[in-house]
Amino acid sequence: MNAHTVMDYKKLVSVAKNVDEKFNAFNAINENLSGGRPISVKDNICVSGLECTASSRVLRGYIPPFDATVVEKLKNKGFSVLGKTNMDEFGFGSFGLNTEKQTKNPFNPEYCAGGSSAGSAIATASIKDHISIAESTGGSISAPAAFCGVVGFTPTYGTVSRFGLIDYANSLDKIGVMSRTSRDIREVFGIIRGGDERDTTSTDREVKDEPKRAVTVVDNLLDLVDGEVKEHFQDLLGKLMNAGFKVNHTKIEGIEYAVPVYYIISMAEASTNLAKYQGFKYGKGAVDYGTDYNTFFKRARASFGAEAKRRIILGTFIRSASVKSRYYEKALRIRANLIKKLKVALKSGYLLSPTMPIKTPRIDEIERLSPAKIYAMDVLTVLPNLAGLPHMSFPYAYPEDMPIGAQIVGDHFDDYSVMSFVDEWEKSFKYKFKYSMG
Ligand code: GLN
Repeated sequence: MNAHTVMDYKKLVSVAKNVDEKFNAFNAINENLSGGRPISVKDNICVSGLECTASSRVLRGYIPPFDATVVEKLKNKGFSVLGKTNMDEFGFGSFGLNTEKQTKNPFNPEYCAGGSSAGSAIATASIKDHISIAESTGGSISAPAAFCGVVGFTPTYGTVSRFGLIDYANSLDKIGVMSRTSRDIREVFGIIRGGDERDTTSTDREVKDEPKRAVTVVDNLLDLVDGEVKEHFQDLLGKLMNAGFKVNHTKIEGIEYAVPVYYIISMAEASTNLAKYQGFKYGKGAVDYGTDYNTFFKRARASFGAEAKRRIILGTFIRSASVKSRYYEKALRIRANLIKKLKVALKSGYLLSPTMPIKTPRIDEIERLSPAKIYAMDVLTVLPNLAGLPHMSFPYAYPEDMPIGAQIVGDHFDDYSVMSFVDEWEKSFKYKFKYSMG
């Protein structure tokens, strides 16, 4: 996909529109695409001149006058932006349904695409040679990658600048990459990584490529996985052993706290971040300056979706003086403790688990679940995210023609080592895609 003609770009734009019509993959498509190597960008990352809403009505009409650092770096290397991908509003969700244009799985539109980076996963599964820039706070790259059968990489926290990202939870957010191959991801990560003076949490620290020949399975995590998913995972372990990998088993105490700890911390941070959409500087879309104080704020804040409102209410409560030591501060201590335990487990190799505890679900199944049941689906993905550890979801089986993913986790700054594991896996695995480009 290097030398393009005008016709190629026209065709690509029409493929993107087709993919959008079928699966609701995009929030904006760049109709003027006429040069460069096309990528798509999750709609919570700013691209100059393209509307950026993070799938929220609150941000409708916002056209950033600047590029996020990752976009700037990619444009400098000859990439161009095909479109902004659909997502759960502000990143709040695991199934791509918390958005006005609910996403659908390209393997079967009655099934979930996964979230929150749903559109990025759909685009890479449906468009040949496509790469998408996505973001994860607590699993938003891994979950849709698994459900759509693509490779999704989330880097070590801080290795990629967050400047130009619409924050969800600053201590957890990471910009990553999705594609059909780990090779593309290695190339793009090489371009976007590195310290940035506009993001003080970013770092230039060296990233290692020291492939390991051992994986560790956390048995008490695997206990939380659906039987059929577990069976396929055992097959994967068998294949790895045949390929000469050592498979270790361990238990990590306190793993059951990962989901509540993640949601306490992420909601506290999210409610702080959403406070700025009050209708003056940001979030002007829904307001009417001619009304009284209460009506003004009620209207400005009413345009958040249901899940965003839930998180504002819970997050504000969690941070309130009377309960903050009971929830927020305790969650921070448990998080620190879990990180220590994960680092110990990582001494004997990568950590490996299924990516999601269930097979790709039908949309109507998820719509019937309570928020708490939905949050519980993040049990496998929140751990590396809480710890800022690099991880990658890769497809490894297609039971009943739907993809299923596994998640490999490395120690901090072992990002390239994680990719090397997936490189090796890819050599022996045949991917299936819903290739729809012409
Ligand atoms: N499902 C998780 C949540 O709703 C993670 C989403 C994400 O990583 N942005 O918070």
